[in-house]
Amino acid sequence: MVTHQIEARGVADERVLAAMRKVPRHEFVPPSRRESAYEDRPLPIGSSQTISQPYVVAVMTELAKVDAKSRVLEVGTGSGYQAAVLAELVAEVYTIEIIESLATGAARTLEHLGYGSVRVRHGDGYRGWPEAAPFDAILVTAAAPIVPPALLEQLVVGGRLVIPVGDGIQQLEVHTRTSTGSRVERVFPVRFVPMTGEVRQSPR
Ligand code: SAH
Repeated sequence: MVTHQIEARGVADERVLAAMRKVPRHEFVPPSRRESAYEDRPLPIGSSQTISQPYVVAVMTELAKVDAKSRVLEVGTGSGYQAAVLAELVAEVYTIEIIESLATGAARTLEHLGYGSVRVRHGDGYRGWPEAAPFDAILVTAAAPIVPPALLEQLVVGGRLVIPVGDGIQQLEVHTRTSTGSRVERVFPVRFVPMTGEVRQSPR
C-alpha cells in the first residue's frame, strides 16, 4: 500500500512513510472489511462514518510538518487510524470524536495496539481542546463549511491547521498561524464526511 499508493503518488517524507508502514490499518476497520484494509480507499466504520483513504491520511500528516516534539490535535477520531499514525511521529496526540460509540471504540483499539498515550475525548471539536492548547498542528478529518476560529487560535505561531473546507467537494487547506493572523494554502479537492455540531450553527 505504501510503496504503490502513497510513495508513488508523491508523498516523500520518510518519517511519514515509515509511520504508515508501521500502523496496522486492518485493526482499525470492521472485521468484515479486513480484506480491503490495504486498498487505497475509505471504508465504512459504522455510524455512517468512514476511515479515510490512506493516501489522504499520508498527505495530511505530511502537510502538518510535525516532528518528535510536536503536540497535535485531531478533530474527527473516527476509527483512531490517523491518530495512531500521528502517535508514531509526535510527542502528544489529542483527538476528539463527536459520536460516542466511535470515540469509545477508537480509544479501545488505540490502547490495544500500544497507542494508549493518545488522549481521546468524546465531544464536539468545534471549540478545540483549550486546556491542552496551544498545538503545533491541528488536523480536521471531517469537512467544515467554515474554518472554526477556535482551532486557529489554538495554534502556536507557525503552527498549521490542515482542514477540508466546503460542502460536497471540498478543498484541503493548510492555514498557518502567523504573528498577525494566518495565511492559507489550498492543496487539492477532497471528499470527507461532513463536520457536524456547532459548526453548522455558526453564521457563514
Ligand atoms: N480520522 C478518522 C476518519 C474520520 S471520519 C480515521 O482515521 O478513521 C470523520 C469523523 O469526524 C467521523 O467519525 C465523525 O463522527 C467525526 N466528526 C464530525 N464532526 C465532528 C465534530 N464537530 N467534532 C468531532 N468529531 C466530528
